[in-house]
Amino acid sequence: MARSLYQPLDLGAALNQQNPFKMLLPLVSCQLVSHMVALFTIGCIVKLSSYNFCINCNSKLNMPDLGNIVDCQNCKASMARKRCPKAFYCKVRLHDEHDRPLHFTLFDKSIRQLVELYNTTNPHDAFELKNLTEYNIKEAFALLEDFKMTYDGSRVINIELNR
Ligand SMILES: [Zn+2]
Repeated sequence: MARSLYQPLDLGAALNQQNPFKMLLPLVSCQLVSHMVALFTIGCIVKLSSYNFCINCNSKLNMPDLGNIVDCQNCKASMARKRCPKAFYCKVRLHDEHDRPLHFTLFDKSIRQLVELYNTTNPHDAFELKNLTEYNIKEAFALLEDFKMTYDGSRVINIELNR
């Protein structure tokens, strides 16, 4: 017999059942969506650093003062100094749309994304990403217009042009 919506529940009967409170709950993802998206301009580079890494295992290399050969202390591979790829990281002071400052650490991927944005808007003065130098990054950051950044706390998720 169908129960009318207005019929009071028989609580006594429900409590007499075995394990009345045991029921299967649907699985819910607990991942919090906390991504923020905002427009930023680069105020200044507080500190820009770089390191060379191993072609074979991507570990940071201790570059010798002399010689053309670099040995990786992690995987023992030997490689030419000029072939060791470089990764950059920097601390920047960004300003949001309301000119509020925000200090952020940018790693290689984000730095290259920003230089690519600069290249997109300045195709005639584009920097070669493969042979990027500290000076290129400083110049690109100084001339870059505002960009849209998606981030999660201090982690950059994505950087794109403000269009
Ligand atoms: Zn290695």
